[in-house]
Amino acid sequence: MFGRSYRLPLTLLGIPVYVDVSFLLILPLLVWIIGSQVGSFAKMFGLPESPELGGGVMPYVLGLIAAVGLFISVIIHELGHAVTARGYGVKVRRITLWFLGGVAQFEEIPRQHGAEAVVSIVGPLVSLAIGGICWAVLHAIPSGATAVRFVLAYLTYMNIMLAVFNLVPALPLDGGRVLRSLLALAMPHAQATRISAAISRLLAVAMGVLGLFSLNFFLLLVAVFIFGAVNAETRTDQLEDLLRGTLVRDLMNPDVHTVPPDMSLSELTEHMLKEHHLGFPVVDAMGNVLGLITLREVQGKDPTSSVSDAMMRDVPTLVEDATAVAALQLMTRNGFGCVIATGHDGRMSGIITKTDLMRLIQLRLAGWGYVRPTKLAAHWPAAAY
Ligand SMILES: [Zn+2]
Repeated sequence: MFGRSYRLPLTLLGIPVYVDVSFLLILPLLVWIIGSQVGSFAKMFGLPESPELGGGVMPYVLGLIAAVGLFISVIIHELGHAVTARGYGVKVRRITLWFLGGVAQFEEIPRQHGAEAVVSIVGPLVSLAIGGICWAVLHAIPSGATAVRFVLAYLTYMNIMLAVFNLVPALPLDGGRVLRSLLALAMPHAQATRISAAISRLLAVAMGVLGLFSLNFFLLLVAVFIFGAVNAETRTDQLEDLLRGTLVRDLMNPDVHTVPPDMSLSELTEHMLKEHHLGFPVVDAMGNVLGLITLREVQGKDPTSSVSDAMMRDVPTLVEDATAVAALQLMTRNGFGCVIATGHDGRMSGIITKTDLMRLIQLRLAGWGYVRPTKLAAHWPAAAY
């Protein structure tokens, strides 16, 4: 969903905040939109005309303050989701700001008893509360402070819009998640996802048509976004359902060929030919994972240099009793084809590849739902990565 994102030098409640490149484009655009239409915004909010709002760079300064205020509101909305998710024991990985607002990314949300509905509804409620506070302050301060009142009126309006927009029952918006979670109280989760996905696509088409006829570019963009995101959401949801109940340990290959960090690259390439593998985890004498080396890292390097000079250091790892769903999520997130499994002592215990996950998915799709994963790992040959 995201392009390149950058980490901001701030951590809120222990959660790192990232900005996507699309956010860096939308912020100046928003400042310009607000700044160039301060007059019409003021009229819409019912504020009296005032020379304080016009003239020179003032509209754009107001635009900047209002836009930054809006994004702070979005971050607080996401923190609302994050704190609630934590209440269910779910780890929050990061909050990312992008051109449609913010996204809080969690580890797996518990599916029982409407947990997803509770986590999702808190965001819009937080936005309504921020809108309410801005409205109360707006009416409490003297009518002379036009610039401050403009920003407060803008934030009141935008936070209410944010709440209403997010309550549209289309996945992956908050409203869509609430709907799915409530449906799942009465039916299997996969069926709840199918129904809410169908509703989401219908709503996306309706928004698209409306956007096209009213020449509302933003609405058109949201429609396209929802349509694409729903497809991705249902696809991952189906895959995750098929993997449920299985641990990394059940699917991983425990018999992994590794290489030491001080091996030279020329030795490594010979090793690749001999072992029929083009990639190896790099492990020290104690069994600790240091990195991963594949043919790609070797290309164009000095053959006398060592594996530790060329290897990838940032390798996705999971403890072996993590769920297969967590492994799939980690692979999707990092664009990696494998995850290294470790014991609780941090030492490598095996490797799990996308092929391992796909094999179980295919078996379960073929109706072999009862195949015990522990048996599978023993009978199937290990996949190459
Ligand atoms: Zn939300």
